[in-house]
Amino acid sequence: MPGGTNDWFWRGRFAIVQTKRTLIRATLEDGLKPAAFAYAKARSLEDAVAQLAAHEGEAKLLAGGQSLIATLNMRLSSPSLLIDINDIGLDGISVKNGVVEIGALTRHVTLERSADIAKHAPLIALAMPHIAHPAIRNRGTIGGSLAYADPAAELPACLVALDGEIDIAGPSGKRTVKAADFFKGLFETALGPHDVLGEVRFPAATADARVGFAELARRHGDYAMVGLAAVAKANGKGLSDVRLVYFGVGATPVRARKAEAALAAGSVEDAVKTLDLEPTSDLHATGEVKKHLAGVLLRRVAEQLAEPRA
Ligand code: FAD
Repeated sequence: MPGGTNDWFWRGRFAIVQTKRTLIRATLEDGLKPAAFAYAKARSLEDAVAQLAAHEGEAKLLAGGQSLIATLNMRLSSPSLLIDINDIGLDGISVKNGVVEIGALTRHVTLERSADIAKHAPLIALAMPHIAHPAIRNRGTIGGSLAYADPAAELPACLVALDGEIDIAGPSGKRTVKAADFFKGLFETALGPHDVLGEVRFPAATADARVGFAELARRHGDYAMVGLAAVAKANGKGLSDVRLVYFGVGATPVRARKAEAALAAGSVEDAVKTLDLEPTSDLHATGEVKKHLAGVLLRRVAEQLAEPRA
């Protein structure tokens, strides 16, 4: 296999060919794309946790199915049981006492069309049209997106930018984890094998809140090559409390703290110069190209942050 900067590219091509071979062999053997699995409906959050625990590492939760079914079809995952959590009453958006709370089963399309999200969570409203396509947004859920933790996904970065937190139900009860501590590595989160993500919560936007969002993808709706979710507070003619969270540049959402400080000090160019990111190369671009694109996005987002919200 060739080495150097093209290494990831060739590794990716090799993995695709191997996956296709496995799929063709499996389909010829039993006539189905996914391996056989049983299906059960959970009646409540507690029931979902109990069913996961009863099937020790053999079961997977089914939310919108938009990522899970693809991994089953490619036989990257072959659980013996799917536990459908669509009817456990965990969908909905509420805004109370300056806090926005969203149930895990709330679909992307609901967030996209919600007047409450537009008013109280404008960063999420800006991000939604970039997530996949309408057919996928009709089924995909916020809980599924956070639990799947694709490093190029929009919602994990938004939740870290908003300094949100996540409620998790598990065999020993409920706990809350800060978004910044939830994303542990590539497709790896603070969720244990018998845990269910319940709700997410973050402060509602105040009158002085500024938000910015931009991403670069090869085609609209694709996962981003590089993206940036940002929040700040208006402070006279400048900004304070700047939080810049990149996605598509590493295994998890990444905060650029030196750039945040430079932007709060009033210089966009200094922020670009001090941009503290070391993006990893992937199939789409080298780390060097991604770093350049991250600077391009920073200039675009800085313009959005400078404008009061309409
Ligand atoms: P599922 O597919 O049902 O589940 C995904 C994983 O999360 C599974 O392992 C499941 O067991 C687990 N899970 C689900 N819910 C919970 C829960 N409450 N607690 C614990 N574990 C849970 N996403 C983006 O962010 N940006 C994109 O640009 C984008 N583009 C896409 C393009 C295509 C062609 C496709 C097919 C998908 C794309 N997605 C994109 C993914 C989409 O947003 C998915 O909907 C999302 O990642 C998963 O949500 P889901 O509800 O479908 O979860």
